[in-house]
Amino acid sequence: MSLQEVSDRVEKALRAADRPEGSVKLIAVSKVQPNERVEAVLNQGHRCFGENRVQEAAGKWPAFRDMFDGIDLHLIGPLQTNKARQAFELFESIHALDRPKLAKTCARLAQETGTCPELFIQINTGEEPQKAGVLPSGADVFVNECRGLDLTIKGLMCIPPADEEPSLHFALLAKIAERNGLEGLSMGMSGDFEKAIKLGATHVRVGSAIFGERVVA
Ligand SMILES: *Cc1c(COP(=O)(O)O)cnc(C)c1O
Repeated sequence: MSLQEVSDRVEKALRAADRPEGSVKLIAVSKVQPNERVEAVLNQGHRCFGENRVQEAAGKWPAFRDMFDGIDLHLIGPLQTNKARQAFELFESIHALDRPKLAKTCARLAQETGTCPELFIQINTGEEPQKAGVLPSGADVFVNECRGLDLTIKGLMCIPPADEEPSLHFALLAKIAERNGLEGLSMGMSGDFEKAIKLGATHVRVGSAIFGERVVA
């Protein structure tokens, strides 16, 4: 596939769901991709990208920002507290806020710097022990805790278990967001972004369908 093809499929899924054109943000997940592939997508005019590691993003995005205006970079992987300051400098959005300690650090950095990336709380909808995220049963309490720290929460994010029907997880995430008055839903990847759009995704995170298979060194 390609950027154009994925964009077309995103718009088609929006029409099928009776949703407005352009109402979902396509995050091109560029982790581990060679720079030539990323640059090719930038040259096609795309500006919204996702990375899952702070270190990797720090190694490539400052140079791309010098070359291209309007880059909108999303951290979609876990964030260690000691890298939060760097993440504030590198990213427009953070999708994996998942614990009180990190929320407190973000609140402190937001006060200190006067700005804050858009924040999504990651929910472990499948309650998988190896996966990050707040359990569904703890979601409302954590949203309120973040709000109590004066953090503005944009929405929720999930990564469904690999072997389960993703739609069930997308629907659960949408339900938790709705009852907490949150508009953002970061859900859907290469294999299931159309299902996610049908269930209300505002941000889809698509890697291999745009760039081709990841080349692992
Ligand atoms: C890698 C990654 C993606 C993209 O996965 P693809 O299957 O290549 O589209 C999306 N979300 C997260 C959190 C990821 O780590």
